[in-house]
Amino acid sequence: MADPECSICGRRACYLRRYSGQRFCAEHFVEYFEAKVKRTMLRYRMLARGERIGVAVSGGKDSLTLLSILSTLAPKLKLELQAILIDEGIAGYRAETVERARRFCSELGVPLLELSFREHTGLSLDEMVELSRRNACTFCGVFRRRLLNAAARKLGCDKLATGHNLDDEVQAILMNYLRGDVERLLRLGVSTVSKKLVPRIKPLMEMPEKEVALYALLSGIPASFEECPYAGDSFRTDVRDCINRLEEKNPGIKFSILRGYQKLLPFLESHEAGALRRCATCGEPSSGERCKACLLIEELSRSASR
Ligand code: SF4
Ligand SMILES: [Zn+2]
Ligand SMILES: [Zn+2]
Repeated sequence: MADPECSICGRRACYLRRYSGQRFCAEHFVEYFEAKVKRTMLRYRMLARGERIGVAVSGGKDSLTLLSILSTLAPKLKLELQAILIDEGIAGYRAETVERARRFCSELGVPLLELSFREHTGLSLDEMVELSRRNACTFCGVFRRRLLNAAARKLGCDKLATGHNLDDEVQAILMNYLRGDVERLLRLGVSTVSKKLVPRIKPLMEMPEKEVALYALLSGIPASFEECPYAGDSFRTDVRDCINRLEEKNPGIKFSILRGYQKLLPFLESHEAGALRRCATCGEPSSGERCKACLLIEELSRSASR
C-alpha cells in the first residue's frame, strides 16, 4: 500500500488528524499548527497590541511551544514578553527542565524570572509530600497558581499565558465535574473571574497534546518530554486514560467536551463571579475567608511540628 499522502501537497504524510480526516506532511503540519494557535488567540481576543505578557514556562513541550509562538508574534504586536518559571522542588526531574527553559529563554531573548516553592513556603514539593498524605498535585496546583499570579501582578503583566493544551483543559473540566467542584470549574474559564487575578490566556487550549508534541519535535524546540514522577498516581491519570479511550472510539469528543463547557461558562459566571474575596491572612484572592494556600501552609506546619 502506498504511503498516505498530505491532503495539501501530496507528499508523504506524517500525521493524520483523525477528527477531520486530514493528513499533513511535516511542513504543512507546522503551518496548520501555527495558524490554528493564532486563530484561537484571535477568536478569544487573547492579545492586544502593546501588552506585557507573563508566560509561565516549565521547560516542557507545552510551555516552550507557547513561548516560541508568542515570540514570533511579539514584534508585530509590540508585545513585551516576560517568562516566569516556578521550581516546585521535584528531585531528579525539575533541574533538567529548568535548564532547558533557561537556555530557550536566553536564545529567544526573553527575560526569565525564577521562583521556587521553597523560598515562598519554606518547603520543596518533595518535602510537602513527605509531611502529608495529600497528593503532590494538590500542593503543586495551589502554590504554582498562587506564585504565578502574584509574580505576574508584581511584574505589571496585562495577561498571564499558560501552555495548557486541549487534553489538559478537558481533563480539568471532567475532573471538576466528577468532584462536583463548581468553583474550580469556573476558574478554568478563558480570561478571568476577578479583577484581583491577572487575566489568564491559554493559546494552546484547542491543540491536542499529541499535536503539541509533534510540533515541538518538528520545530526543533528543545523541550523536555519527560513526565513528572508524581503524574502516575493522580486522579488526573485515570481521567486522562478514560478520555483517551472515548476519543479513540469517538474522534472529536475532546472538542465536544470543551465546547460544552464553553456554553456553560456564562451561566456559571453569572452565579459565581462575585464569590472571590481577599484571604484574611495573605490578602490574595480567595473563595473562602482564608485561601487554600494559607490553609495548606498551616496544615504542613502542624505536621512538621508533630
Ligand atoms: S503531575 Fe507533577 S507537575 Fe503536574 S501537578 Fe502533579 S506534581 Fe505538579
Ligand atoms: Zn504537505
Ligand atoms: Zn491566604
